[in-house]
Amino acid sequence: MDKIKVGVLGATGMVGQRFVQLLADHPWFEIAALTASERSVGMTYGNACHWVVSDEMPAFVKEVVVQESKPELDCRLMFSALPAKVAGPIEEEFAAAGYAVSSNARNHRLDPDVPLLVPEVNPDHLALIEIQRRRRGWKGFIVTNPNCCTAQLVLALKPLWDRFGITALSVVTMQALSGAGYPGVPSLDILDNIIPYIAGEEGKLEREPLKLLGRLEGEAVREAEMIISAQCHRVATREGHLEAISVKLGQEASREDLVEALQSFRGPLQDLGLPTAPERPIVVREELDRPQPRLDRDEGKGMSVVVGRVRECPVLDYKFILLGHNTIRGAAGAAILNAELLHAEGYLEELD
Ligand code: NAP
Repeated sequence: MDKIKVGVLGATGMVGQRFVQLLADHPWFEIAALTASERSVGMTYGNACHWVVSDEMPAFVKEVVVQESKPELDCRLMFSALPAKVAGPIEEEFAAAGYAVSSNARNHRLDPDVPLLVPEVNPDHLALIEIQRRRRGWKGFIVTNPNCCTAQLVLALKPLWDRFGITALSVVTMQALSGAGYPGVPSLDILDNIIPYIAGEEGKLEREPLKLLGRLEGEAVREAEMIISAQCHRVATREGHLEAISVKLGQEASREDLVEALQSFRGPLQDLGLPTAPERPIVVREELDRPQPRLDRDEGKGMSVVVGRVRECPVLDYKFILLGHNTIRGAAGAAILNAELLHAEGYLEELD
Protein backbone atom coordinates (compact mmCIF):
# COMPACT_ATOMS: atom_id res chain seq x y z
CA MET A 1 0.00 0.00 0.00
CA ASP A 2 1.32 3.48 -0.88
CA LYS A 3 1.44 5.60 2.22
CA ILE A 4 -0.85 8.63 2.46
CA LYS A 5 1.02 11.94 2.34
CA VAL A 6 0.38 14.04 5.42
CA GLY A 7 1.48 17.44 6.68
CA VAL A 8 1.81 18.92 10.15
CA LEU A 9 0.68 22.53 10.70
CA GLY A 10 2.60 24.07 13.62
CA ALA A 11 5.19 21.29 13.45
CA THR A 12 7.87 23.00 15.56
CA GLY A 13 5.74 23.33 18.74
CA MET A 14 5.16 20.96 21.64
CA VAL A 15 2.34 19.05 19.94
CA GLY A 16 3.85 19.42 16.47
CA GLN A 17 7.00 17.63 17.65
CA ARG A 18 4.91 14.77 19.02
CA PHE A 19 3.24 14.47 15.63
CA VAL A 20 6.62 14.28 13.92
CA GLN A 21 7.79 11.65 16.39
CA LEU A 22 4.65 9.49 16.13
CA LEU A 23 4.37 9.81 12.34
CA ALA A 24 8.05 9.06 11.63
CA ASP A 25 7.47 5.29 11.35
CA HIS A 26 3.73 5.23 10.79
CA PRO A 27 2.58 2.28 8.67
CA TRP A 28 -0.14 4.24 6.79
CA PHE A 29 1.01 7.88 6.76
CA GLU A 30 4.20 9.61 5.62
CA ILE A 31 5.26 13.17 6.42
CA ALA A 32 5.33 15.26 3.22
CA ALA A 33 5.17 18.80 4.64
CA LEU A 34 5.90 20.68 7.86
CA THR A 35 4.73 24.23 8.54
CA ALA A 36 5.24 26.81 11.27
CA SER A 37 5.14 30.58 11.80
CA GLU A 38 6.94 33.26 9.79
CA ARG A 39 9.83 32.91 12.24
CA SER A 40 10.56 29.41 10.95
CA VAL A 41 9.44 29.41 7.29
CA GLY A 42 12.38 28.76 4.93
CA MET A 43 14.58 27.23 7.65
CA THR A 44 15.30 23.50 7.87
CA TYR A 45 13.19 21.75 10.51
CA GLY A 46 16.43 20.81 12.31
CA ASN A 47 17.33 24.50 12.70
CA ALA A 48 13.83 25.89 13.28
CA CYS A 49 12.80 23.40 15.94
CA HIS A 50 14.07 23.28 19.51
CA TRP A 51 13.40 19.54 20.01
CA VAL A 52 12.09 18.86 23.52
CA VAL A 53 10.24 15.53 23.31
CA SER A 54 11.85 12.22 24.29
CA ASP A 55 14.21 10.41 21.89
CA GLU A 56 16.14 12.02 19.03
CA MET A 57 14.57 14.09 16.29
CA PRO A 58 13.97 11.61 13.41
CA ALA A 59 16.93 11.99 11.00
CA PHE A 60 14.91 12.46 7.81
CA VAL A 61 13.02 15.55 9.04
CA LYS A 62 16.15 17.50 9.94
CA GLU A 63 16.63 18.71 6.35
CA VAL A 64 12.94 19.24 5.53
CA VAL A 65 12.34 22.94 4.80
CA VAL A 66 9.55 24.47 6.90
CA GLN A 67 6.76 25.89 4.72
CA GLU A 68 3.96 28.42 5.09
CA SER A 69 0.57 27.16 6.32
CA LYS A 70 -1.09 27.64 2.92
CA PRO A 71 -3.12 24.99 1.10
CA GLU A 72 -0.52 24.48 -1.63
CA LEU A 73 1.12 21.44 -0.04
CA ASP A 74 1.48 17.99 -1.60
CA CYS A 75 -0.59 16.23 1.09
CA ARG A 76 -4.05 14.73 1.45
CA LEU A 77 -4.33 15.02 5.20
CA MET A 78 -3.18 17.85 7.50
CA PHE A 79 -2.65 17.47 11.21
CA SER A 80 -3.11 20.80 12.95
CA ALA A 81 -1.06 21.75 16.01
CA LEU A 82 -1.63 25.46 15.44
CA PRO A 83 -2.31 27.86 18.31
CA ALA A 84 -6.00 28.77 18.62
CA LYS A 85 -5.30 32.41 17.76
CA VAL A 86 -4.53 31.42 14.13
CA ALA A 87 -5.94 27.89 13.69
CA GLY A 88 -9.57 28.73 12.80
CA PRO A 89 -9.23 30.35 9.36
CA ILE A 90 -6.13 28.35 8.34
CA GLU A 91 -7.88 25.02 8.97
CA GLU A 92 -10.95 26.27 7.06
CA GLU A 93 -8.79 27.22 4.06
CA PHE A 94 -7.32 23.73 3.93
CA ALA A 95 -10.72 22.03 4.26
CA ALA A 96 -12.23 24.25 1.56
CA ALA A 97 -9.33 23.36 -0.75
CA GLY A 98 -9.99 19.62 -0.41
CA TYR A 99 -7.71 18.52 2.43
CA ALA A 100 -8.80 16.43 5.39
CA VAL A 101 -7.84 18.31 8.56
CA SER A 102 -7.40 16.51 11.87
CA SER A 103 -7.12 19.30 14.42
CA ASN A 104 -6.00 19.72 18.00
CA ALA A 105 -7.06 23.33 18.24
CA ARG A 106 -10.19 24.37 20.07
CA ASN A 107 -11.62 26.63 17.35
CA HIS A 108 -14.00 24.21 15.62
CA ARG A 109 -14.60 21.62 18.36
CA LEU A 110 -18.08 22.83 19.20
CA ASP A 111 -19.23 23.71 15.67
CA PRO A 112 -22.44 21.71 15.23
CA ASP A 113 -21.28 20.18 11.93
CA VAL A 114 -17.71 19.32 13.01
CA PRO A 115 -17.06 15.94 14.65
CA LEU A 116 -15.43 16.22 18.08
CA LEU A 117 -14.07 12.72 18.11
CA VAL A 118 -12.54 10.05 20.32
CA PRO A 119 -12.71 6.87 18.24
CA GLU A 120 -13.41 4.58 21.21
CA VAL A 121 -16.23 6.86 22.37
CA ASN A 122 -18.23 8.28 19.45
CA PRO A 123 -17.06 6.96 16.05
CA ASP A 124 -20.59 7.38 14.67
CA HIS A 125 -20.20 11.19 14.91
CA LEU A 126 -18.07 10.94 11.75
CA ALA A 127 -21.39 11.12 9.89
CA LEU A 128 -21.26 14.91 10.55
CA ILE A 129 -18.57 15.15 7.85
CA GLU A 130 -21.07 14.84 5.00
CA ILE A 131 -23.30 17.47 6.60
CA GLN A 132 -20.29 19.78 7.05
CA ARG A 133 -19.19 19.45 3.43
CA ARG A 134 -22.70 19.99 2.12
CA ARG A 135 -23.41 23.02 4.30
CA ARG A 136 -20.07 24.70 3.75
CA GLY A 137 -19.49 23.62 0.15
CA TRP A 138 -16.07 22.23 1.06
CA LYS A 139 -14.21 19.53 -0.86
CA GLY A 140 -12.37 18.52 2.30
CA PHE A 141 -13.40 18.61 5.96
CA ILE A 142 -12.31 19.17 9.56
CA VAL A 143 -12.45 16.70 12.44
CA THR A 144 -11.22 17.66 15.91
CA ASN A 145 -9.98 15.94 19.04
CA PRO A 146 -10.89 17.28 22.46
CA ASN A 147 -8.86 19.29 24.92
CA CYS A 148 -6.16 17.14 26.57
CA CYS A 149 -7.98 16.77 29.92
CA THR A 150 -11.28 15.98 28.22
CA ALA A 151 -9.67 13.32 26.01
CA GLN A 152 -8.65 11.20 28.98
CA LEU A 153 -11.72 12.03 31.07
CA VAL A 154 -14.24 11.01 28.44
CA LEU A 155 -12.48 7.71 27.83
CA ALA A 156 -12.89 6.79 31.50
CA LEU A 157 -16.47 8.07 31.58
CA LYS A 158 -17.64 6.18 28.50
CA PRO A 159 -18.08 2.71 30.08
CA LEU A 160 -19.68 4.25 33.20
CA TRP A 161 -22.01 6.38 31.11
CA ASP A 162 -23.08 3.43 28.96
CA ARG A 163 -23.47 0.98 31.85
CA PHE A 164 -24.85 3.08 34.75
CA GLY A 165 -25.50 6.61 33.50
CA ILE A 166 -23.86 9.65 35.13
CA THR A 167 -25.81 12.59 36.51
CA ALA A 168 -23.06 14.71 38.08
CA LEU A 169 -19.30 14.86 38.03
CA SER A 170 -16.58 16.81 39.81
CA VAL A 171 -13.09 16.86 38.31
CA VAL A 172 -9.98 18.51 39.77
CA THR A 173 -6.98 18.49 37.44
CA MET A 174 -3.22 18.62 38.04
CA GLN A 175 -1.87 19.45 34.60
CA ALA A 176 1.69 19.03 33.35
CA LEU A 177 3.82 21.87 31.99
CA SER A 178 3.97 20.51 28.43
CA GLY A 179 0.25 21.24 28.21
CA ALA A 180 1.12 24.93 28.03
CA GLY A 181 3.20 24.49 24.85
CA TYR A 182 6.82 25.60 24.48
CA PRO A 183 8.37 27.54 26.24
CA GLY A 184 5.18 27.55 28.32
CA VAL A 185 5.05 28.71 31.94
CA PRO A 186 8.13 30.67 33.15
CA SER A 187 10.19 28.51 35.54
CA LEU A 188 10.10 31.17 38.29
CA ASP A 189 6.29 31.06 38.25
CA ILE A 190 5.97 27.30 38.58
CA LEU A 191 8.97 25.98 40.56
CA ASP A 192 7.97 25.42 44.20
CA ASN A 193 4.41 26.27 43.18
CA ILE A 194 1.00 25.25 41.83
CA ILE A 195 -1.03 27.70 39.74
CA PRO A 196 -4.78 27.32 40.37
CA TYR A 197 -5.88 28.76 37.01
CA ILE A 198 -5.50 27.77 33.36
CA ALA A 199 -7.25 30.18 31.00
CA GLY A 200 -10.32 28.68 29.35
CA GLU A 201 -9.63 25.16 30.58
CA GLU A 202 -12.49 24.67 33.04
CA GLY A 203 -15.07 25.73 30.46
CA LYS A 204 -13.72 23.19 27.94
CA LEU A 205 -13.79 20.41 30.50
CA GLU A 206 -17.36 21.23 31.50
CA ARG A 207 -18.65 21.37 27.91
CA GLU A 208 -16.70 19.06 25.57
CA PRO A 209 -17.63 15.75 27.29
CA LEU A 210 -21.30 16.57 26.74
CA LYS A 211 -20.83 16.68 22.97
CA LEU A 212 -18.59 13.59 22.96
CA LEU A 213 -21.08 11.51 24.96
CA GLY A 214 -24.02 13.01 23.08
CA ARG A 215 -26.22 11.19 20.58
CA LEU A 216 -26.25 11.91 16.88
CA GLU A 217 -29.84 12.72 16.02
CA GLY A 218 -30.55 13.70 12.42
CA GLU A 219 -28.01 16.35 11.46
CA ALA A 220 -26.84 17.33 14.95
CA VAL A 221 -25.50 15.95 18.20
CA ARG A 222 -27.88 16.08 21.14
CA GLU A 223 -25.57 16.74 24.09
CA ALA A 224 -25.47 14.35 27.03
CA GLU A 225 -27.27 15.57 30.14
CA MET A 226 -25.04 15.71 33.20
CA ILE A 227 -23.59 18.43 35.41
CA ILE A 228 -19.81 18.80 35.37
CA SER A 229 -17.80 20.96 37.76
CA ALA A 230 -14.11 21.37 36.82
CA GLN A 231 -11.19 22.97 38.70
CA CYS A 232 -7.89 23.13 36.82
CA HIS A 233 -4.34 23.53 38.16
CA ARG A 234 -0.91 23.76 36.52
CA VAL A 235 1.70 21.71 38.40
CA ALA A 236 5.42 21.20 37.86
CA THR A 237 5.35 17.81 36.15
CA ARG A 238 6.61 17.52 32.54
CA GLU A 239 4.00 15.25 30.99
CA GLY A 240 0.88 13.42 32.14
CA HIS A 241 -2.25 15.10 33.45
CA LEU A 242 -3.68 13.74 36.71
CA GLU A 243 -7.39 14.18 37.48
CA ALA A 244 -9.25 13.55 40.77
CA ILE A 245 -12.81 12.64 39.83
CA SER A 246 -16.05 12.07 41.75
CA VAL A 247 -19.16 10.80 39.97
CA LYS A 248 -22.83 10.47 40.78
CA LEU A 249 -24.22 7.53 38.85
CA GLY A 250 -27.65 7.21 37.27
CA GLN A 251 -28.22 3.86 38.96
CA GLU A 252 -26.78 1.87 41.85
CA ALA A 253 -23.55 -0.03 41.26
CA SER A 254 -21.00 -1.76 43.47
CA ARG A 255 -17.30 -0.92 43.41
CA GLU A 256 -16.73 -4.26 41.68
CA ASP A 257 -19.26 -3.32 38.97
CA LEU A 258 -17.45 -0.05 38.42
CA VAL A 259 -13.99 -1.61 38.21
CA GLU A 260 -15.24 -4.34 35.91
CA ALA A 261 -16.88 -1.81 33.57
CA LEU A 262 -13.65 0.22 33.38
CA GLN A 263 -11.32 -2.74 33.08
CA SER A 264 -13.27 -4.60 30.41
CA PHE A 265 -13.83 -1.56 28.21
CA ARG A 266 -12.49 -2.10 24.71
CA GLY A 267 -14.55 0.30 22.56
CA PRO A 268 -15.72 -0.50 19.06
CA LEU A 269 -12.30 -0.37 17.36
CA GLN A 270 -10.75 -3.70 18.10
CA ASP A 271 -11.55 -5.21 14.69
CA LEU A 272 -10.40 -2.25 12.63
CA GLY A 273 -6.67 -2.80 13.24
CA LEU A 274 -5.92 0.90 13.78
CA PRO A 275 -2.17 1.11 14.44
CA THR A 276 -2.40 3.72 17.24
CA ALA A 277 -5.36 2.17 19.10
CA PRO A 278 -4.18 0.69 22.41
CA GLU A 279 -5.16 -2.86 23.23
CA ARG A 280 -6.56 -1.70 26.58
CA PRO A 281 -7.84 1.90 26.44
CA ILE A 282 -8.32 1.91 30.24
CA VAL A 283 -5.91 0.25 32.65
CA VAL A 284 -7.06 -0.08 36.27
CA ARG A 285 -4.42 -0.28 39.01
CA GLU A 286 -5.15 -1.45 42.54
CA GLU A 287 -2.01 -0.11 44.31
CA LEU A 288 -2.93 2.66 46.75
CA ASP A 289 -0.41 5.14 45.33
CA ARG A 290 -1.02 4.79 41.58
CA PRO A 291 -1.36 6.15 38.96
CA GLN A 292 1.57 8.56 39.03
CA PRO A 293 2.62 10.73 36.07
CA ARG A 294 6.27 9.63 35.98
CA LEU A 295 5.48 5.91 36.35
CA ASP A 296 2.27 5.49 34.36
CA ARG A 297 1.99 8.10 31.60
CA ASP A 298 3.52 5.83 28.92
CA GLU A 299 1.00 3.01 29.43
CA GLY A 300 -0.16 1.71 26.03
CA LYS A 301 2.54 3.89 24.37
CA GLY A 302 0.82 6.91 25.90
CA MET A 303 -2.59 6.01 24.42
CA SER A 304 -4.08 4.18 27.43
CA VAL A 305 -5.43 6.06 30.40
CA VAL A 306 -4.74 4.73 33.89
CA VAL A 307 -7.38 4.66 36.65
CA GLY A 308 -6.60 4.05 40.32
CA ARG A 309 -7.96 4.47 43.86
CA VAL A 310 -11.54 3.60 42.88
CA ARG A 311 -13.50 4.06 46.11
CA GLU A 312 -16.78 5.25 47.55
CA CYS A 313 -17.37 9.00 47.76
CA PRO A 314 -19.37 10.35 50.72
CA VAL A 315 -20.59 13.33 48.65
CA LEU A 316 -21.28 11.75 45.25
CA ASP A 317 -21.21 7.95 44.66
CA TYR A 318 -17.63 7.02 43.68
CA LYS A 319 -14.29 8.73 43.29
CA PHE A 320 -11.10 7.76 41.48
CA ILE A 321 -7.82 9.10 40.09
CA LEU A 322 -7.18 9.25 36.35
CA LEU A 323 -3.94 9.78 34.43
CA GLY A 324 -3.38 10.33 30.71
CA HIS A 325 -0.46 11.42 28.53
CA ASN A 326 -1.39 14.94 27.50
CA THR A 327 0.67 15.30 24.31
CA ILE A 328 -0.10 11.74 23.11
CA ARG A 329 -3.65 10.64 24.16
CA GLY A 330 -4.48 14.30 24.80
CA ALA A 331 -3.13 15.71 21.52
CA ALA A 332 -0.99 14.24 18.71
CA GLY A 333 -1.83 10.56 19.34
CA ALA A 334 -5.52 11.45 19.53
CA ALA A 335 -5.46 13.27 16.17
CA ILE A 336 -3.53 10.41 14.55
CA LEU A 337 -6.03 7.85 15.87
CA ASN A 338 -8.84 10.00 14.46
CA ALA A 339 -7.10 10.03 11.09
CA GLU A 340 -6.66 6.25 11.18
CA LEU A 341 -10.38 5.88 11.75
CA LEU A 342 -11.02 8.25 8.82
CA HIS A 343 -8.83 6.07 6.63
CA ALA A 344 -10.41 2.81 7.83
CA GLU A 345 -13.87 4.24 7.10
CA GLY A 346 -12.87 5.39 3.58
CA TYR A 347 -13.05 9.17 4.20
CA LEU A 348 -9.51 9.82 2.95
CA GLU A 349 -9.89 7.84 -0.26
CA GLU A 350 -12.90 9.99 -1.22
CA LEU A 351 -10.55 12.98 -1.46
CA ASP A 352 -8.55 11.51 -4.40
P1 NAP B 1 3.26 25.61 20.87
O1 NAP B 1 4.30 24.76 21.52
O2 NAP B 1 3.19 27.05 21.24
O3 NAP B 1 3.47 25.50 19.26
C1 NAP B 1 2.80 26.33 18.34
C2 NAP B 1 3.19 25.98 16.91
O4 NAP B 1 2.42 26.79 15.99
C3 NAP B 1 4.65 26.23 16.55
O5 NAP B 1 5.03 25.30 15.56
C4 NAP B 1 4.61 27.64 15.94
O6 NAP B 1 5.68 27.87 15.02
C5 NAP B 1 3.31 27.55 15.14
N1 NAP B 1 2.72 28.86 14.86
C6 NAP B 1 2.57 29.91 15.71
N2 NAP B 1 1.97 30.94 15.06
C7 NAP B 1 1.76 30.53 13.79
C8 NAP B 1 1.19 31.14 12.63
N3 NAP B 1 0.73 32.43 12.65
N4 NAP B 1 1.15 30.42 11.48
C9 NAP B 1 1.62 29.16 11.43
N5 NAP B 1 2.17 28.51 12.50
C10 NAP B 1 2.23 29.21 13.65
O7 NAP B 1 1.80 25.04 21.12
P2 NAP B 1 1.33 23.50 21.44
O8 NAP B 1 1.32 23.24 22.89
O9 NAP B 1 2.10 22.60 20.52
O10 NAP B 1 -0.21 23.54 21.02
C11 NAP B 1 -0.64 23.48 19.66
C12 NAP B 1 -2.16 23.38 19.63
O11 NAP B 1 -2.58 22.17 20.22
C13 NAP B 1 -2.88 24.51 20.39
O12 NAP B 1 -4.07 24.85 19.72
C14 NAP B 1 -3.17 23.86 21.75
O13 NAP B 1 -4.25 24.46 22.42
C15 NAP B 1 -3.48 22.43 21.31
N6 NAP B 1 -3.29 21.38 22.33
C16 NAP B 1 -2.10 21.31 23.03
C17 NAP B 1 -1.93 20.27 23.97
C18 NAP B 1 -0.66 20.11 24.77
O14 NAP B 1 -0.61 19.16 25.61
N7 NAP B 1 0.38 20.92 24.58
C19 NAP B 1 -2.93 19.34 24.15
C20 NAP B 1 -4.12 19.42 23.40
C21 NAP B 1 -4.26 20.45 22.49
P3 NAP B 1 7.06 28.63 15.44
O15 NAP B 1 7.94 27.61 16.13
O16 NAP B 1 7.61 29.06 14.12
O17 NAP B 1 6.68 29.77 16.34
